[in-house]
Amino acid sequence: MTNTLQSPVKQLTKGYAAPAAGAPLAPFTFERREPNADDVVIEIKFCGICHSDIHQARDEWGGSLFPMVPGHEIAGIVVGLGSSATKFKLGDHVGVGCFVDSCRSCGACDAAVEHYCSKMVGTYNSREHDGTPTYGGYSERIVVKQDYVLRIPDALPLDAAAPLLCAGITLYSPLKHWKAGPGKKVAIVGLGGLGHMGVKYAHALGADVTVLSQSLKKADDAKRLGADHYYATSDPATFTTLAGTFDLILNTVSANLDWNAYLSLLTIDGTMVLLGVPDAPSPPVNAFSLIAGRKSLAGSMIGSIGETQEMLDFSAAHGITCDIEKITIDQVNEAYERVLKSDVRYRFVIDMASLAD
Ligand code: NAP
Ligand code: ZN
Ligand code: ZN
Repeated sequence: MTNTLQSPVKQLTKGYAAPAAGAPLAPFTFERREPNADDVVIEIKFCGICHSDIHQARDEWGGSLFPMVPGHEIAGIVVGLGSSATKFKLGDHVGVGCFVDSCRSCGACDAAVEHYCSKMVGTYNSREHDGTPTYGGYSERIVVKQDYVLRIPDALPLDAAAPLLCAGITLYSPLKHWKAGPGKKVAIVGLGGLGHMGVKYAHALGADVTVLSQSLKKADDAKRLGADHYYATSDPATFTTLAGTFDLILNTVSANLDWNAYLSLLTIDGTMVLLGVPDAPSPPVNAFSLIAGRKSLAGSMIGSIGETQEMLDFSAAHGITCDIEKITIDQVNEAYERVLKSDVRYRFVIDMASLAD
């Protein structure tokens, strides 16, 4: 039995899909399931464009499923509820991030790090446990099990909150895990969608924040976002000036870098965390880059449902949202090209009302 706010839940759903690897995204109509007892039906209002959408739509990581409806930075409104979906009510502001299910019985799920479950179901480019392909947020609605739906606090506007569901949590989680805070020096490498959220959260947590960007173009923005220092990595002097400085480096760059050069910027016991996922094999790391200073090279991927809710509540308490450029759905291919040129300040967000045009 399903309650609906306005009209009955439609199975046919309008969206945009990549029909094949690298092909431009185009209008695509597909079916969403009728809600099961524990499902929430969400009318999608806004969806962010993550660089991971581009990697996957172009099959840069291999194994992509087509047609692909990308989008895992979803913000919308509850318009339908299954009979046992009591965590939410009609009209609630909600979000969906990078995954919509997990096995609920493995070590990762038991430890509340279900984003590391080997049976985690991605919001798109993945399959439900029954084999049905998942389709993401570049669409008018989505049906998701209530345990994988986030509550977006009323203080956060839906458009600028949407990218928190991936870019926000991907930076918040490692900052908390590696204890960024007062007295800690944190560097954010790459001032894109992920990077600009890293600056905001690291600053809000009280750390001393440095941005390492390719050029000086974004220096004024970085200061406005909360950075204390800013350096261009195109200037070799940056690497001598900052040698041995940072407790924590968060690398958000979508391309390969010389990790040895960045590891030299860590202080003793410092950690560099890889967040970006380039499409090419990783560059070699010299043992001396790690042993001289007991340094760590680590990685981190999004965050759990619990931590994502904590991040949204933290964002509301600290007035943190994403800096966005709002676009219509027909501008999505152009937006992809601009992301690839690092020409977005700092996240494109699709206004899903434009699907009706
Ligand atoms: P983005 O908005 O394109 O930002 C990436 C930034 O990296 C750019 O703004 C640019 O910053 C820098 N950059 C790009 N190309 C570079 C190059 N060739 N050399 C040096 N710097 C370069 O992308 P995003 O959405 O933030 O995503 C970044 C990466 O993280 C992607 O690979 C994405 O797939 C991955 N990701 C990982 C997770 C996770 O859970 N670990 C989650 C989401 C995304 P400057 O202009 O400041 O130099
Ligand atoms: Zn993402
Ligand atoms: Zn599991």
